[in-house]
Amino acid sequence: MLRIRAGSVHPVTAPPISDGAVLVDGGGRIAAVGPHSHVPAPREAETREFPQGVLVPGLVNCHTHLELTHLAGRVTDREFPAWIRRIRELKDATAAPEFRRAAEQGVRACWAAGVTCVADTGSTGAAAAALHALDGRGVVYQEVFGPDPLACEASLAELAASVERLRPLASDRLRLGVSPHAPYTVSAPLYRAVADFALRERLPLAVHLAESPQETQLVRDGAGPFADALRARGIAVEPRAVSPVQYLVQLGVLASGNCLCIHCVQVDREDVDLLKTAGAAIAHCPRSNRAHGHGVAPLAAFRAAGIPVGLGTDSVVSTGDVSLWGDAVAAGLEGEDALRMLTIEGARALGLESEIGSIEVGKEADLVVFDRPTALLTLVAGRPVHGYIGAP
Ligand SMILES: [Zn+2]
Repeated sequence: MLRIRAGSVHPVTAPPISDGAVLVDGGGRIAAVGPHSHVPAPREAETREFPQGVLVPGLVNCHTHLELTHLAGRVTDREFPAWIRRIRELKDATAAPEFRRAAEQGVRACWAAGVTCVADTGSTGAAAAALHALDGRGVVYQEVFGPDPLACEASLAELAASVERLRPLASDRLRLGVSPHAPYTVSAPLYRAVADFALRERLPLAVHLAESPQETQLVRDGAGPFADALRARGIAVEPRAVSPVQYLVQLGVLASGNCLCIHCVQVDREDVDLLKTAGAAIAHCPRSNRAHGHGVAPLAAFRAAGIPVGLGTDSVVSTGDVSLWGDAVAAGLEGEDALRMLTIEGARALGLESEIGSIEVGKEADLVVFDRPTALLTLVAGRPVHGYIGAP
């Protein structure tokens, strides 16, 4: 058992408590929360005290690419399609053990920034291996690529094999999903096939969607730099005459009601309604969107529509770090509203709100301490920088 006392405790789903305490049971779940004087202090409980600390639920980062941690600062291309191409080249030049090291470094960087749960997309399985080895929490979406319709079967077979390989790592703390990457890297038949596969295997989906104007140009008009690059590879491109969101709805990708849509910058009113109707969730990545010049996603419209939205840092190649507070600031959020978005709202976007995201009796004790609400001082961890203080 563990008892933590802090200058203030922010349960998120209840008002902040000054001089508060939290009791964590031997199974790593929250047994009590309240004013210090009201929370039991069993003799066998280890105690930690942070008189100046702000104790909050661990933050939820709804979009990372932890396998790319080693590429921070390595890509300087400003044009988005060129940037994407450069990432692919650097990935091709990376050996497998380096991805694993990068992912472990990424997990630790998340913990140091107060993030105790990530929704990660990647193609190498390194993030799943790292989270498993370090006992971290997250949803890991295995990426699949394949812009050539003729390669659909091979891409799907590769995805299925990757999922089988990762399955032994899955647990309540580490969930698996799949991610058909983006409209400029995935053919229409592959989208359909992956959506069917996900439904069959009961796996959640994540998609990069409506991120750049160039993506809209490709989908709607069959034109622009992505279209040119595909045609240069001998891949036919047709104008779909719809928005990227409408396109994925037509392909049945959002039909499962369990799809995390990453970015959603290039959306109009109709797209927002479609996302709501589909039961989709959104990973809002304001700093990444800004860094690439994609524009500003309509966060207020998402929230007004009742779509679950969490914040994501995206890869460190885009934003330089995995500090979610920077994204809260970039999203125009502050105080308790920011904290809500970074915790319970992020958890809801991942379907984990009954397990994490607030300090409530019965929930997992993913807890962190900040020296003030915007800067992490110490993770309340029995082990080095681990947010899950009650972990066996
Ligand atoms: Zn991304």
